[in-house]
Amino acid sequence: MNYISTRGGESGLRSAYAIAKGLAKDKGLYTPDRLPELYKSDFQKMASMDYAGRAAYILGMFLDDFTPEELGEYTKKAYSKEKFRRAGEPKKNAPKLDGTAIKKIGDREYILELFHGPTSAFKDMALQILPYLLTASLRKIGEKRTVCILVATSGDTGKAALEGFRDVEGTKIAVFYPEHGVSDVQKLQMATQKGNNVGVCAVDGNFDDAQTGVKRIFSDEKIAEKLDSEEKFLSSANSINWGRLAPQVVYYISAYLDMVSSGDISFGDKINICVPTGNFGNILAAYIAGEMGLPVGRFICASNANNVLTDFINTGVYDRNRQFYKTLSPSMDILISSNVERLLYYMSGSNNSHDCGFVASAMESLNETGKYTLPENMAKSLRERFFAGCCDDEDTKSTIKDVFENEDYLIDTHTAVAVKVYRDYALETGDKTPTVIASTASAFKFSAGVMEALTGKTYENDLDSIDALSEYTGEAVPGPLSGLKNLSVRFKGSVAKDGMKEVLSSLI
Ligand SMILES: *Cc1c(COP(=O)(O)O)cnc(C)c1O
Repeated sequence: MNYISTRGGESGLRSAYAIAKGLAKDKGLYTPDRLPELYKSDFQKMASMDYAGRAAYILGMFLDDFTPEELGEYTKKAYSKEKFRRAGEPKKNAPKLDGTAIKKIGDREYILELFHGPTSAFKDMALQILPYLLTASLRKIGEKRTVCILVATSGDTGKAALEGFRDVEGTKIAVFYPEHGVSDVQKLQMATQKGNNVGVCAVDGNFDDAQTGVKRIFSDEKIAEKLDSEEKFLSSANSINWGRLAPQVVYYISAYLDMVSSGDISFGDKINICVPTGNFGNILAAYIAGEMGLPVGRFICASNANNVLTDFINTGVYDRNRQFYKTLSPSMDILISSNVERLLYYMSGSNNSHDCGFVASAMESLNETGKYTLPENMAKSLRERFFAGCCDDEDTKSTIKDVFENEDYLIDTHTAVAVKVYRDYALETGDKTPTVIASTASAFKFSAGVMEALTGKTYENDLDSIDALSEYTGEAVPGPLSGLKNLSVRFKGSVAKDGMKEVLSSLI
């Protein structure tokens, strides 16, 4: 399998190189130049495997410079029962939880719970395995320098990356998060991070500022030279790294197999997939699964008040020149969704030839004017494959309350956005296809918003409302969140948005 840059500047690369480097030299995103195909026999083989086995199988289709033994070992370690389990379940004797779980609500809503990992958000699904893939990639390309992972986070990636990379030999990790753009739980999770190779710093700005700052550091040659003289180099654990995206393709295929085996659908039946979307990584993984052969009707892209993607999909015009809102679903408070670039690559042509020139010029226009427009035929096929909708904080809250009271099921603020947009979609179109809705975080991670939704009372702080939420709902607090208040804070620093470069060396 050949990896290329979406902007056409590099080609003929192997996956280890793409994963080790993170971002292409021309600032494009490394992507397989064509997608592997899933046949019926592949589904049949995977049907009897556990989650780790399915992950090794699918990753093997993308990472063909890794051996099946390597991938088998990494997926077993990453998706172990010790790391992924339901809240309240003891470590020992826990029923097998295959990384994810599915809960059916209503007539045809299948909530795919992706948040049972160590940081209670779906980012663990990729970031538990990325350190294995990355360190192996460095060995494979003969890279001996220390890799310094640089992360901009809207809250959940930061913690999941810190947890995945902590004390991993040959790696260091630095995380920047928007000072006022993450929840108290997210902030404390990062500020209390343990490990000898980790650094965390707040940025006085929003997520886009942090992401832009990180991208600037990546393309700064002076920084690269200085790091090189210290036997170090930078790489990325954001979803611009292909090693983040490939593992996410797995759970959509695995969910389908689980729905077939539970008798909810028959093999070959179509499903829809609805995803609460921010940087467009998670829904792109679903799209890739669909392109590989997973029978998907519609991809439903759910946004909060930051609805740049809703407008993009409905009109074909991407325009980030608009107000930025802070919402109850902060991990989706994003106006520049990086992974749309990979979608443009795949949509600009057929599986045999793609138009990198188009991608490069759209991205240049986005960088210069904050805007680009799709040609009409592309805009049309985008609308055919995707449905897009958005939902404000009031609707987010009423959806949480409705699902809790009518389905006896607790969802977080991000998942609620997806449920609401899916229900709007079902009403508008009358489509009765069973729909997988990605549930991206535990409700306890965003407990203030969830408690407000359930009780109508305002809670200042997520930390104080965790116990209240547990009492109100009778549900156990996930292990990783229950002891959080008692951990000691290690990282208190914060910088102006143009000062990120200066603090980098102290972090790594
Ligand atoms: C990261 C995140 C999202 C958005 O996912 P993308 O892959 O960036 O679109 C949604 N919900 C939660 C809880 C997240 O942490």
